[in-house]
Amino acid sequence: MDPSTDRIAHPWGGRTPYAPHEPWPVRVDTHLADGVRTGEVQRWVQAASLLHSDGDAMDIAVKDDRIVGVRGRAGDRVNHGRLGPKDLFGWQANASPDRLTRPLIRRQGRLVEVDWPTAMGAVVAQSKELLDEQGPGSIGFYTSGQLFLEEYYTLAVMARAGIGTNHLDGNTRLCTATAGEALKQSFGCDGQPGTYDDIDHADVIALFGHNIAETQPVQWMRMLDRLAGTEPPRLLCVDPRPTPVARAASIHLAPRSGTNVALLNALLHEIIRTGRTDPAFIAAHTVGYEELTENVKDCTPAWASSICDVPAARIGEAAELVGSAERLLSTVLQGVYQSHQATAAAVQINNLHLIRGMLGRPGAGVLQMNGQPTAQNTRECGANGDLPGFRNWENDEHVADLAEVWNVEPGSIPHYAPPTPAMQMFRYAEQGSIRMLWISGTNPAVSLPELSRMRSILAQDRLFVVTQDLFLTETAQLADVVLPAATWGEKTGTFTNADRTVHLSDKAVEPPGDSRPDLDIFLDYAARMGFRDKDGGPLVHWADPESAFEAWKHCSAGRPCDYTGLTYRQLRGSTGIQWPCNEQAPNGTARLYTHGITWAHPDVCESYGKDLITGAADSVVEYRSLNPDGKATIRPGEYLPPHEVPSEDYPFQLTTGRTLYHFHTRTKTGRVPQLNAAAPEVWVEISANDAVELRLDEGDLVEVATPRGAIRGRLRVTGIRPGLLFVPFHYGYWDTPGGYRPEADTTGRAANETTITDWDPVSKQPVFKTAAAKLTCIESSDGRVSPAPTTTASAPVEGSHLPPTSGGVPAHSTQEVDRETEVNG
Ligand code: SF4
Repeated sequence: MDPSTDRIAHPWGGRTPYAPHEPWPVRVDTHLADGVRTGEVQRWVQAASLLHSDGDAMDIAVKDDRIVGVRGRAGDRVNHGRLGPKDLFGWQANASPDRLTRPLIRRQGRLVEVDWPTAMGAVVAQSKELLDEQGPGSIGFYTSGQLFLEEYYTLAVMARAGIGTNHLDGNTRLCTATAGEALKQSFGCDGQPGTYDDIDHADVIALFGHNIAETQPVQWMRMLDRLAGTEPPRLLCVDPRPTPVARAASIHLAPRSGTNVALLNALLHEIIRTGRTDPAFIAAHTVGYEELTENVKDCTPAWASSICDVPAARIGEAAELVGSAERLLSTVLQGVYQSHQATAAAVQINNLHLIRGMLGRPGAGVLQMNGQPTAQNTRECGANGDLPGFRNWENDEHVADLAEVWNVEPGSIPHYAPPTPAMQMFRYAEQGSIRMLWISGTNPAVSLPELSRMRSILAQDRLFVVTQDLFLTETAQLADVVLPAATWGEKTGTFTNADRTVHLSDKAVEPPGDSRPDLDIFLDYAARMGFRDKDGGPLVHWADPESAFEAWKHCSAGRPCDYTGLTYRQLRGSTGIQWPCNEQAPNGTARLYTHGITWAHPDVCESYGKDLITGAADSVVEYRSLNPDGKATIRPGEYLPPHEVPSEDYPFQLTTGRTLYHFHTRTKTGRVPQLNAAAPEVWVEISANDAVELRLDEGDLVEVATPRGAIRGRLRVTGIRPGLLFVPFHYGYWDTPGGYRPEADTTGRAANETTITDWDPVSKQPVFKTAAAKLTCIESSDGRVSPAPTTTASAPVEGSHLPPTSGGVPAHSTQEVDRETEVNG
């Protein structure tokens, strides 16, 4: 293996092949700032990745009190030393010259610098006035998948028991709300059943709408290393784009957008028809199998073929592949979660595992993945529309138990209705019942659907917007108060990745100027607001990250996400540890359902389930009669066509998505030279067939329009399915003259100008994958090429001879195979 490689040109680095059931070899990836040698690093400070949900463990290199690079942690169970391109280069954003360093407040229409007491005084005065005049329902909090566990927990306590509002959600609503909901529907509780280690054991890996090569690159390295070894697993890829996963797959299905449920029902039909189920597992651990059988009895591959536009024979082959697996691992992400019938589809993937008995043993598992690094923490801590500790808001005993933990009256925890999901919170702000919105670590002015509507909501005079961020994002530019926050490397806290692994991330350097950790900002607010428990003591009685962690441990005790066996000391210097971690499982827990389904009993479950078509909540009575013993619930889902379909005026389907080189709205990655150069500008993907038919070519400037809005970008001709257009969603306006919106009289570049205000009825996750659109050529390429990377799913069709994406010398990083270090899994 080449010891140094350009990790923009070769994002997944060199191969370390291994065979099934063998440990994944260690390879330590390092990138240091230009001119800094390893021997010059003065301190290595423990952290983990904040730019995707892999949870890659790394050490931050510090020299002269500056971050000068990172290296993977060889002994960590998640990444065995490897880092992805965003991990290797992303730390440079911390030192961007345009970091916010002082609070800002809007005066006469302009944001001006003030000190902290002035800024917090304004936020507190507004909060108190609204509480007095309009009540707690006038205040909402919209947070991130970027903060730390301690921060989410503090926010949840403050919002629920301090303010008493139901309006608290995370942007994880856009990302992984469906993952959590699908797990609740099937297993009665959130929390990943499997573990990344299942990649080492599986003989078939099925990736549903999950371009893991770009969203979780380190776990893709693990799959690539298995594929390069003896007895490689076979891959099934379901994705309309020619992703790196599709290129490596034994079977690639590219269904029409919005038809996942039809495809999955056909797979279930075939598995049942060919007798590839596990009757003993079904009888022992599930309820609802008969209903599923009835639901899919007519869902033949031929039926699904006409809906999905995939050959029936290929669906049959896919069913045979997953039906014949001895150790089946399925992974799921946005192609399912952000699409039509999101939860219904994700639940059918759980059903596939339940009827095949593919759970709770090495290689047999489901990864209902997360996109954001700390999405799991928002869900556990109740900062995303659940109650902390996976408590059931409909179960009075759970609410009473939480009230005891917080030493408040149960009635002061709002549970008269389910916590408000983000799309509804913005609707309330639009209608005027929410009058203050505190947005921390996220950028809805780029990431939510139908942006012209979002901008008009955020810009209203009657809405008081507080943002807390590192930069003057598009959202911050519309705020009334802007609070400068510290970030990864500048503060301490824990975070939990998609496979339940908890990592500690330590402070390496001081934050710039007057910026402060999010936890300090929340603690300051709680103190100024004077939040009290029922005995008059402080409601938020912790003062720093470690004491906040201890408070959270108390709240998690006895719940599925039990952290009571973890300490900062234990997490410092060692590998990440998977919850639950307690007296019974002091080293953590690799898989959740090794001895049956543990958290679905009516007395302990997090949810009584919902109708997969309407989203209507089942009552406790219904749940008890369906599932008195607390088994896994097999919930069938009937296929319904998407709400917006192509028409004469809008003949294409439009899907949005991400690229390997950027994270979320590019707030950080757009400020990193190597990442920005790899994917500097928005583009539009079209199939070769459609390009020929419309006489379009690589690099043409095109406009994509839907009934909501339009964007412009240069065309990339790829192997995407005909009839579908793709636009990456990362690009907003902070680095354009428009600042937070398209410049006057110009067409924008943010994909969400075009997407529809629509969401899954069960998880309330917005639908970003099934708009209908038209395409117009604005200007022919004139030899120019699209800015789309050639190394990823946006690779041009074969024979295009475009210059390959590369990072050159600035992207060179070292990769050392390490045969000495053992990884304690
Ligand atoms: S880029 Fe997508 S997958 Fe990643 S965090 Fe954002 S919403 Fe989630």
